[in-house]
Amino acid sequence: MRPDTPAENVDHSAEAARLERTAGLYPEDAEALLLRAAAHLELSGARPEATALYDRLLASGEGPGGGLDNPALVRALKASNLWEYGHEAEARAIIDGIRASAPRDPAPWVIVAEALESHDELEAAEATFTEAARLLIPSGQDTPPQPAHPLLFGRHRVRRMLGVPHDEWDTLADTLHTSPVSLDELHDPKRVWSLGSSNPAELEAEITRLRAELGTYREALSRPFPVAILHWPAAEFQELLEAYPALATEYPSYEEHLARTESALRELAASGTGNLGIVTGTVPSYEAFAASESASPSDATLLPQYATTLAARGRAVAWPPGRDSGCWCGSGRGYGECHGAPTA
Ligand SMILES: [Zn+2]
Ligand SMILES: [Zn+2]
Repeated sequence: MRPDTPAENVDHSAEAARLERTAGLYPEDAEALLLRAAAHLELSGARPEATALYDRLLASGEGPGGGLDNPALVRALKASNLWEYGHEAEARAIIDGIRASAPRDPAPWVIVAEALESHDELEAAEATFTEAARLLIPSGQDTPPQPAHPLLFGRHRVRRMLGVPHDEWDTLADTLHTSPVSLDELHDPKRVWSLGSSNPAELEAEITRLRAELGTYREALSRPFPVAILHWPAAEFQELLEAYPALATEYPSYEEHLARTESALRELAASGTGNLGIVTGTVPSYEAFAASESASPSDATLLPQYATTLAARGRAVAWPPGRDSGCWCGSGRGYGECHGAPTA
């Protein structure tokens, strides 16, 4: 989420505008949509506008009966954004408030600790990661829940930079980290401090690697949609084709629809696309979407846009399911025995 993170050819201003518009259409999903819109505004450099969005969310949702799912996360993102454009005092005050309120979700802790880290406050960053780990990882637990992993990785990184020896949590971080580059190599202070070194290609690779690890959470936020493929349950599929026979060109049969859904996802996965998901269509919501686009539901080019909008609204289910979990197609069989079976 650093402003210099490669933008992957996204027009961030346009994406933010689209997400805000979608939030207007689906107020029940406004929090997820506006957080992503704000992430795009930050990436486009429009930091004051991002602050305005965070304030809008906070005004709508804090206090008793407030509607925000995660007010601490919104405040953490606001603080981090404020600090990036010179509002250090306000940012620090918000960060102190978040630490004092001890949220039970790792995400705001990670955002706050990374904000401190990126402004070279390594001791404060380490203290923040440690506070959060004490609060959220029961002592002696060697399999902390996945959402807590970034706490341990961030803490490991900052402690390597500080040159302190490994403790139990650092060792645990090493075992939880599964990428080809070990955490100790990734966080080697010699690498980090020797960035003024000789070989430009090496240097660049090093910076890219460091950036890839910093701000992962916020980078994920700025990738607004999982890449999602549209799936219709059998009854909806039948109703859709009865109402809009022109879509038969796109959907020759139900079995074919299911097979194509799985194969599209496998192809995307094989080409290295991460963050894949399946969204489930319903005829009424598809008709409402077509109306909002002033288009006819018979227009097959709307289908991918409908999928994208459902994904933006947070309706995607991650793909692939576990081998023993139920298949996404709703057959009731395990994924591994159904659409997840290896093809002959
Ligand atoms: Zn280590
Ligand atoms: Zn299946």
